Amino acid sequence: MGKTVRMISSDGFIAASAIDATDIVQRAHEIHGTSHTASAALGRVLAVTSLIGGGLKVDGGSVTVRFDGDGAGGRIIAVAASDGAVRGWVERPMVDLERREDGKLDVGSFVGHEGSLTIIKDLGMRDPYVGTVGLVGGEVAEDIAGYFVESEQIPTACAAGVLVAPDGSILSAGAYLVQLLPGAGEDVVDKLERAIVGAGAVTKLFSAGNGPEAILRTLLDGFDPIKLDEYDTPYRCDCSLERVERALVSTGKAALQEMIEKDRGAEVTCQFCDKVYRFTSENLAELLKRATRD
Ligand code: ZN
Repeated sequence: MGKTVRMISSDGFIAASAIDATDIVQRAHEIHGTSHTASAALGRVLAVTSLIGGGLKVDGGSVTVRFDGDGAGGRIIAVAASDGAVRGWVERPMVDLERREDGKLDVGSFVGHEGSLTIIKDLGMRDPYVGTVGLVGGEVAEDIAGYFVESEQIPTACAAGVLVAPDGSILSAGAYLVQLLPGAGEDVVDKLERAIVGAGAVTKLFSAGNGPEAILRTLLDGFDPIKLDEYDTPYRCDCSLERVERALVSTGKAALQEMIEKDRGAEVTCQFCDKVYRFTSENLAELLKRATRD
């Protein structure tokens, strides 16, 4: 279970949230069999997506974060609910890359230095809010900050890090998101920038055993922060037999006919949790009836 804390500065100009996502990224590693670099890339995306989801303030809302970069790992997608529960997927989870010269995992080359980042916010209204921006390097956190500045005009500082053990298990993972609210003056910006630089690298902060609350108090040093809430954030997939059945029905009569006659059944694997749904010819014949009715 991940842990998330949200805070606001007492002057009301800065909103901040941080997540310890170690268990979430470990779960993703177990489901997808991610390489070291893939764990770092997907893990950063999962951690930040959970923070964005938890900030939606709409029950039943969700956010989808999609990286379409030109890197070795292909597309990365994460989806979070408004309670911060998150799930994710990476196109080529087994691909690994040489570490960079500074010893860090090469997330930028895995995600891609060129490409786009799309964020879809479903707030329960008729149409979701969709924004797309170009990547600014593929290191994930900088791309997310760039998205908020460019697409939502919200000055944002974002950091995300994942520390992978030699055996591939996740030692620590976490992220923070710090955003300026309307009315913040230059003095606030300067003081905040100094505090963020002073706090140091996010991976070091988490791997040193600091929890999300301690990290936020470091980032908001001098702003007398107030804790808004603290909650557990699981890796959670909401796939179900009903959803998979609906998806099969929507493939159409011809496709179902072929699964029945040629394959004598079907096996559908959920891309987010690797759960396998098996259908016999009889099951499929039922779905074919539904497809014919619609
Ligand atoms: Zn699933």
